[in-house]
Amino acid sequence: SPVLVLFRDDFRLADHPALSGACATGQPVLCAFVHDPETTRGDAIGWWLAKARTALENALSEQGGTLHPLSGNTPDSVAAFVKAAGIESVFWNRRYDPTGKAQDTALKAHLEQQGVSVHSSAARLLHEPWTIRTGAGTPYRVFTAWWKAARAMGEPGRCLPAPQHIPFAALPKAAQALTAHAVPSVPPLPEGADAAEADWPCTEADAQEVLATFVDDNLAHYIQEHDRPDKDTTSRLSPYLRAGLLSARQVWHAVRAAATTPALAENAEKFLSELGWRDFAWMQLFYEPDLAWRNLRPEFDHMPWQKSPALLAAWQQGQTGYPLVDAGMRQLYATGWMHNRVRMVVASFLTKHLLTDWREGEQWFQARLVDADPAQNAMNWQWCAGTGIDASPWFRIFNPVGQSEKFDPTGAYIRTWVPELRQMPDKLIHTPWKADATLCRQIGFTPGKSYPNPIVDLKLARGIALECWKNLPARK
Ligand code: FAD
Repeated sequence: SPVLVLFRDDFRLADHPALSGACATGQPVLCAFVHDPETTRGDAIGWWLAKARTALENALSEQGGTLHPLSGNTPDSVAAFVKAAGIESVFWNRRYDPTGKAQDTALKAHLEQQGVSVHSSAARLLHEPWTIRTGAGTPYRVFTAWWKAARAMGEPGRCLPAPQHIPFAALPKAAQALTAHAVPSVPPLPEGADAAEADWPCTEADAQEVLATFVDDNLAHYIQEHDRPDKDTTSRLSPYLRAGLLSARQVWHAVRAAATTPALAENAEKFLSELGWRDFAWMQLFYEPDLAWRNLRPEFDHMPWQKSPALLAAWQQGQTGYPLVDAGMRQLYATGWMHNRVRMVVASFLTKHLLTDWREGEQWFQARLVDADPAQNAMNWQWCAGTGIDASPWFRIFNPVGQSEKFDPTGAYIRTWVPELRQMPDKLIHTPWKADATLCRQIGFTPGKSYPNPIVDLKLARGIALECWKNLPARK
């Protein structure tokens, strides 16, 4: 009788423990995913996951197999399919988000009651959330201490090769009616995200190529350049990791293997610690299932957030009058991705200068990012807003002009995304409102019309943000 592999956010063949485990049984294999209408809401991540799933469908069909779409995302409906197809064993890679965890626990109980064996594996992270704990047995609350403990655990296990031959089972007749009739296609990209299609090639081989290019061309400068949006030399692996087109373990080993000199090893170590933040975020979500909506520092429940639709819209659309902020928000809008340094700057600007609740920003990112990740997005927003654990404190307010001068010194990044400012000389690109009338005439620039004037005064807004914070009850 056949065994079943359920694919979720792990759309690959290599280093896929559930698939390898199923193949190792020697039984015929059925591959399936559960079509969840929630994931086709028309946001960027819905588009990206559907693309990744389609790529896996193609890869399986090249080998003569099918990725069967199961309809109905409930334990009952999956269990009904398992029963109708006469499946004996089910394999999946473990999930750690609250919904996924609850669904898998319920499904496992249901299947085991039916006498079906369930085999789940660790595949998504370098370290499962509960495996690294303090001496007192509690979860870590400080990244550096957690990372030290993680490094002390040694290297993650070796990567599994893609199975040489998958012995596909034919879908038994009785189960056919239980697969989704209309295979859901790839939903459209969100409005305006036209550049995403070309920016993000989406197969497992593409993911490996992105990894190889990073290791060959950019790992050596990672420490020096990872904060420079104008250089754009970070790995750009986040969407691939999000959809599981490659595994964190594959990334780890490729980077470690390239660390052949002390200089490369130093860069590799820095890069791997960034990858460590991904696990740290997932550990936080595992223990704090409401990470995306509850201030982990409760005193922030009293923050008098402004509720200005106009300010929020200006931020979302990249019309704040601060060039680095606007460049970042427009890059996000057009491509579904933003450089990490700029993510930090726009988040600080929204929460502190615009005094807007970080949850507004979290939701906008969730809707627009092709790497939108429930743990990484939520943790980073809480980090930037100072509401999280081991977060950047509230009083650390990024100056968007200073950040721009430091990390985009010639304005190359700004000129890419804010074409209205292309003619601005380098020394005014960060502060276009300072251009005098003669220059404006020369370059055909009308302040406030060609490009918005700043929507807030930085000094004033900073003072208000600090005052509000000082007045919070019982700061810890
Ligand atoms: P690289 O510098 O090449 O890093 C390699 C990998 O390490 C990344 O792909 C990512 O998986 C991990 N990583 C790097 N920085 C972080 C970090 N600060 N936190 C957690 N993991 C990290 N990342 C997401 O993948 N999804 C999100 O939804 C997301 N939302 C964010 C929201 C805000 C407000 C901020 C400040 C950061 C957010 N990040 C998110 C983290 C980070 O910005 C991206 O992972 C990174 O920019 C992706 O580009 P890269 O792959 O080139 O990064």
